[in-house]
Amino acid sequence: MSLEKLIEEFLLEKGAIKVRFATKESLAGGPPSSDLTYQLPEARSAISFALPLERGKIRSYLAKEERLGHDEEQINKSILSSKISKECAIWLTDMGHPSVRVHGNNKYRTDLEGWQLLMHPDISHRYVAVASGLGSFGWSGNVGIRGYGTAIILGTIVTSADLNPTDPLPEEDSFCDNCKICVKSCVGNMFSKDEKDTVVLGGKTFSFARRNDCTRCMFVCGGFTGLHKSGKWSTWSPGRYVVPESKEDVLQTMFRAIGNYAKWPQLPSPGGYAAGPLNGMNIRLTCGNCCYICWGNKKETSKNYRLLTSSGCVVQRANGEKVVLTPDEARDEFERMNPEHRSLYC
Ligand code: SF4
Ligand code: SF4
Repeated sequence: MSLEKLIEEFLLEKGAIKVRFATKESLAGGPPSSDLTYQLPEARSAISFALPLERGKIRSYLAKEERLGHDEEQINKSILSSKISKECAIWLTDMGHPSVRVHGNNKYRTDLEGWQLLMHPDISHRYVAVASGLGSFGWSGNVGIRGYGTAIILGTIVTSADLNPTDPLPEEDSFCDNCKICVKSCVGNMFSKDEKDTVVLGGKTFSFARRNDCTRCMFVCGGFTGLHKSGKWSTWSPGRYVVPESKEDVLQTMFRAIGNYAKWPQLPSPGGYAAGPLNGMNIRLTCGNCCYICWGNKKETSKNYRLLTSSGCVVQRANGEKVVLTPDEARDEFERMNPEHRSLYC
């Protein structure tokens, strides 16, 4: 049996839904995070795989019925992806092919200027997934697979083994129908509706929405704000800052919001994704909408959008309790708040 087949069987048995292979050549010419040798100087290939996320938990999360189920699922699947990758890397190394896993998150190209804001990963799971044909870019720039959409967790192993690359997916096999629901589901207005960005990998050009400014996602997904500009729904964050139009204003408002966030009453709460301490605070991610909402099927994705936009708004009371209210109730309760407490959220 070929090494590729053995690897595929190894990963499918551990829960992967699909496995594909990229090489230095099929990633050539890409951005810094496509350079496999950054992690392993003798790297020749990379293995890409995907794990599915539970849809029922995503729906409860989007509808604001229950946060923890999906929160934990997302963390557990990321840990599982990392664990499987490590096992595969050790197995390949034992067979004489030095290999390393790529971590799920929180590993950045700290050698690149401005990395603190740009947050380029050490190796991009997305670039390997697209170059290998595991999946393709959706309009959001998230990678998805037909039948699953972007509600998946990617995993990657970098190896010195000389693996046969698999081809990128042809456009007609893309899961993305350009419905742009991902654009509408972003409180941060992160994605252009019409303009594209491109990335070249192995001589092939791939496109997706131009990102207006990645700081917008840090502001919203980081949990500092969450209210949609319509005032009709929010993420899981009780922040009610309006995300400004200009990049400079976004930065200024975000820094003010971070200062206020440190004063939010903290109740011990289980779950949440600890994205790292910032001034001693654990940042809990509160969005991910652009990724979870897209199931690669217009009917299902539209239903997810309806759930999200009728899910209400989160408000945090002075005692630290967070409640989900209708938009009008949330506005009224917010306006009645003690001004000192209210000023921490807008
Ligand atoms: S939500 Fe629609 S436009 Fe966005 S990635 Fe999914 S299918 Fe493509
Ligand atoms: S995670 Fe949320 S804030 Fe970030 S880009 Fe996606 S929808 Fe926008």
